[in-house]
Amino acid sequence: MLIKALKLKPVTKEYIWGGRKLKSEWGKEADTATVSESWELSDFPGSESVIDDEMYPGYTLGKLYEKHPEFFGDKIRDFKRFPLLIKLVDAGKDLSVQVHPNDEYAAANEGGSYGKTECWYVLDADPDSYILLGFKRDVTREELKTALENGTVTELMNKIYVKPGDFYFVPAGTVHALCKGVTVLEVQENSNITYRLYDYNRTDKDGNPRKLHIKEALEVANLSAYVPEAQKEYRDFIYGKVRKLCSCEYFKIKEVQFNDLYIMYAFDGFAAFTVAEGEGKLLKEDAPNANADGVPFKKGDTFFVPRGAMVRLVAPHGKIIITEI
Ligand code: ZN
Repeated sequence: MLIKALKLKPVTKEYIWGGRKLKSEWGKEADTATVSESWELSDFPGSESVIDDEMYPGYTLGKLYEKHPEFFGDKIRDFKRFPLLIKLVDAGKDLSVQVHPNDEYAAANEGGSYGKTECWYVLDADPDSYILLGFKRDVTREELKTALENGTVTELMNKIYVKPGDFYFVPAGTVHALCKGVTVLEVQENSNITYRLYDYNRTDKDGNPRKLHIKEALEVANLSAYVPEAQKEYRDFIYGKVRKLCSCEYFKIKEVQFNDLYIMYAFDGFAAFTVAEGEGKLLKEDAPNANADGVPFKKGDTFFVPRGAMVRLVAPHGKIIITEI
C-alpha cells in the first residue's frame, strides 16, 4: 500500500480567450504569454497530465492504473474510461456561449465519447466579473434560435456576479459561458465535446470566426429555467472548516480549510486535491512530527491520492478542493 500523494504535472492549453493569471498567480509554466487552461488531472488521449514524483516519474494515470489498479479503488470499474478531468481555467476574455451533450447523446453522436457535466469552483474573480449560466426563464427552441440569429442570447441567460469560493454546478445541457476575469477550478467528465452557440461575432488572428454548432446545440440545450443552488454552508471540524460542494453520479467535491495540519484519508477510492490557498508541505510517510521535511505544495498544485493513503498537509493556513468519484 502506498501512503503518499503524488504530485501531477499538468498540460497547458491556449485558446483565443486565455488570461495571464495561470502563469502569474497559479504557478503554471507555458511558452505562451497567456494560458487558457491547465489540465491538472487528465487522462484525456493526447493531453495526459503526468506524475511528478520520483516514485513514478512521468507516469500517466493510465500507466499508473495498469501497474497499480489497487490505487484507484473499486468504483472506477463502473466507468468504461477514466472518468474525471480536473482543470484550472482562466478567462482573460469571455468564453463563447456553449453547451455540452449528456452521455447518451455523446455516445450516439460523438463516437462513444462521454458527455460533459461540469462544475466550477471560483478561485479568483476580478471586480464585477460574472458567469452566464442557464436561462432566466423557460424558453422555446424557436425563441432561442431567433436570439442566436439576433445576437441577443445572453439576454435570456442568468448573469451571475461571482467571487472566490463560489461554486456552480453545470449539468450537461445547460447553456453557459465563463466570462472575462473569472478563474475557476473546473471538475468535469473526461470529455472535450463543446457545442458553441454564440461567439460574440469574434474572429481569430486570421480574421475567421470560430465554428458554431447550432444544430447540435439546439438538440442538446436544456430550455427550462435554471435556478442555481444557494452556496453551501461550512461546518467546523477538528482541523478547521469544511463544505460539501457537490455530489453527483460523476464526482463528489468538498472544500477544506485548515490551520497548521490536515490529515486526509482516501479510504474508499482514489482522490485528488487542488490547492486553492496557502503554501506548505506534505509530510513524508515516516515523518515523526510536523517539523520533519516534506514535499512542498503551493497554490495551484494538484495531487493524486491513491486509495488507502493517509496524507498529512502542514501549512499555517490552507484551502484545498478534494475531488473523488
Ligand atoms: Zn463548459
